[in-house]
Amino acid sequence: MSDALRDDLSELARLFATHAAWQRELGALELPHEGALPVARPVVEAAPPPAPSIPPPVTAPASAPVVVAAPARLEPPTLVRPAAPPPVVRALFGEPAVAAPAPRISAGPPLQGEARVGALAVIQDEVRGCTSCRLGAARRNTVFARGNPFARLCFIGEGPGEQEDKQGVPFVGPAGQLLDKIIVAMGLSPEDVYVVNVVKCRPPNNRVPEPDEMRTCTPFLVRQLDLVRPEAIVALGRTAVGFLLDSKDSMSRMRGKWHTYEGIPVLPTWHPAYLLRTPEAKADTWADMKVVMARLGIPVPTRGGSASG
Ligand code: SF4
Repeated sequence: MSDALRDDLSELARLFATHAAWQRELGALELPHEGALPVARPVVEAAPPPAPSIPPPVTAPASAPVVVAAPARLEPPTLVRPAAPPPVVRALFGEPAVAAPAPRISAGPPLQGEARVGALAVIQDEVRGCTSCRLGAARRNTVFARGNPFARLCFIGEGPGEQEDKQGVPFVGPAGQLLDKIIVAMGLSPEDVYVVNVVKCRPPNNRVPEPDEMRTCTPFLVRQLDLVRPEAIVALGRTAVGFLLDSKDSMSRMRGKWHTYEGIPVLPTWHPAYLLRTPEAKADTWADMKVVMARLGIPVPTRGGSASG
C-alpha cells in the first residue's frame, strides 16, 4: 500500500470515528445505514390538517377469536399518613400538640350594614333547602329567625312549634306571644331583639331535638351568632342552655347567672312554654330579665310605667 493511500484511509477512519461519536451524542444506538439518514425537507407553509378520515372497520378472521383487553383497573390512591414520631423523638420534644377546636366566633370585627343582612340571607337560603337531618322530612317551613340582625340582645329557644312551622317564623305561637310580652315589659320592642332557635325545623309532636339533629343543625345558628354578635344572649330553656354552655346542670342552678358562649355573656332562664305551664315561675324570669337589663344599661320600668335606674 502506498503512503498516500494509507494517509487517505487513516483520515477516513478518523472522520468515521468523529461521525460515530457525534451520532452517539445524538442518542443513536447504532450506526446509520443507507436510507436512514434524515433528508432535508423544503420549508413550506403549514397546510391545514387533512380532514379526519374514518378508518374502515377491522374485521377479524372468522376463525380467530377476538380478545378484548380488559381495561386496566384503577386502584384508589393509597393515602400515606405521616408516621407518628418515634418514641425517642417524643421523649426529647414531647407529644405533638393537639389542635384546639376552631373558635366559633371569628376574630375580626362583625360585618356591618348590607353585608351582614346579605350574609344572613345566604344562610337562610341554605336553611330553606336543607334536608340534612330527619326533621327536614316532616316540616312545612323552615324557621330561621325574626327581629333585628343588629340587635344587642338575642333570645335563643329550642325549635319551632306548630304555629312556627306553619308560618316559618320563630316564637309566633302562645309561647312567642308571652316572649313578646316579656320583651315589651323590658322596655324593648320585638324589633329591637334577635330571636332564633337551636334547630330550624319542627320536631314531631314538639319533642326535644335529638343530639344528632342538633349537631347537624347548629352550625347554622353558630354562623348566625357570628354575624349578629349580640352583646348578650338569653338562653330560653334546657336545650338552648345545653347547646350554648355545653352543660347538663339543672335549669334551677343555671338560671339567673351569667355564663359565656364564645366570649358572649349568656343568661339562662325558663322557656316561655314552661312559664305557660308553670305561671309561678314568671317571677323568676322577670328577675332574670332585670339582670339582663342591668347589664345592657336598660332602665328597669317601675310598676307605674316609669323607669328606674
Ligand atoms: Fe336542616 Fe336543621 Fe332542618 Fe335538620 S333541622 S333539616 S339540619 S335545617
